[in-house]
Parts: sequence; structure tokens; C-alpha cells
Amino acid sequence: MKLILLGAPGAGKGTVAKMLTKLDGSVQISTGDILRGAVAAGTELGKQAQAYMNAGDLVPDELIMGIMAKRLQEDDCKNGFLLDGFPRTIPQAEQLKDMLAKLGIELDMAVNIDVPRDVILDRLTTRRTCSNGSCQAIYNVKSNPPKQEGICDKCGSPVVQREDETEAAISHRLETYNAKTAPLIGFYEKEGMLMTVDATSSEAVIEAIQEKLGATA
Ligand code: AMP
Repeated sequence: MKLILLGAPGAGKGTVAKMLTKLDGSVQISTGDILRGAVAAGTELGKQAQAYMNAGDLVPDELIMGIMAKRLQEDDCKNGFLLDGFPRTIPQAEQLKDMLAKLGIELDMAVNIDVPRDVILDRLTTRRTCSNGSCQAIYNVKSNPPKQEGICDKCGSPVVQREDETEAAISHRLETYNAKTAPLIGFYEKEGMLMTVDATSSEAVIEAIQEKLGATA
């Protein structure tokens, strides 16, 4: 399947994407994961992105479009892809539309995962992430802690609170979401591609997506 996953930080885009990859071999493409990997590896891209990310601001569109132009042409995208955290601005969405048209790729839909603000805040402040740039497994201190406190179950690296998941950075990220990313809901509605799911459980989101794709297939 070829989907855009829309939703505020903490809406569950990453969790839903990971679950969907198991269904049909589609790959998860998370621009946040790519950028954090670049920061951890100390690459030029990472150096350019780090200050924006730590402040909870968006990285400039040109950097993101440069990443995605290459990523979408990699072989593993042929089986489908789940765009997690991209596009995040109207210019990104417009450029993505042109890019996909040139590549002859048609998206199935844009899924807007709509979760109440109090749930989002609780999730983000209790979320912890593996510090290993090529793992980035996600935990939650309340609902899904690592077996050994502070240590990743998958790779043994330290599990940390992301620098952009302090309370100040979270509230700035949510403001940024409302100002820059929420308008994409209207964009994809106009394109006739929008599906909104207001479910707090990822399983319910997956079910709704499968139902919709089944119905339109
Ligand atoms: P995420 O893991 O998706 O919450 O992304 C973490 C941070 O990476 C965001 O707060 C932005 O600074 C940056 N980022 C990720 N994806 C994008 C994007 N599509 N456009 C601009 N900045 C992005």
C-alpha cells in the first residue's frame, strides 16, 4: 500500500506504520528517523537539521525534499511505502504530488490519525526512544517500558528521552503542527484522498485502514 500518515506528534503514526509494514511488505519512511539517524551519525545533513529539531521547529523544506526525492526511488519502495511525518507543510505536499506524478506513482490515500490533545501530551512526555540511530525503538515508561530500565530490548543501547520531548519543545512542536501541518488535512480532502480515523488504539486505526482499502480495491 502507498499511504501518507498524517497526525500530530504522538498520534501514533510510527506505531501504525510499523504494524502496516508487517501486512504487505510496504516500507516505513519516517523523515524524523532519517534525520535523527543523520544527527547521530554526525553527517552534514544531521548538522544542518539538529538545531531545528531540538527547538521543535521544522527542518527547511529543501532539505526534506532532497531526502525524499532519493528515498522514494529506492528499490524497497516498489512494494509500497508508508510516509510517516512527511509531508509536513503545504509546499512539501505540492512538491510530493509533482514528484509522484513524474515517477508514475499513485497514492492510495492520506490517513489522518486524530487523537485528543490530552492523550498526545501524555504519550509524548512518557515516550522514550533508543539512542542508537539505526535502531530508534520506541518505548513508553507507563505502557511499554524496556525489560531492563533504560536499556533497549532490541540492541542494548541506552533508552533516552528525546531532546525535543521536553515539555517546552513538545508544546512548540504541537503549535508548529497546528500552524504548518494541520492545513494538509484540507489539502488532501480537496484531492479526494483523505481518510480520518479518530481512534486512540493503533489496532483500531489499522482495522479502519484495511477496511477502507478493501472497500476501494
Ligand atoms: P518526528 O519524529 O516525525 O516527530 O520528527 C522529529 C523532528 O524532525 C521534527 O520536529 C522536525 O524538526 C523534523 N522533521 C521530521 N520530518 C519533517 C518534515 N517532513 N519536514 C520538516 N521537518 C521534519
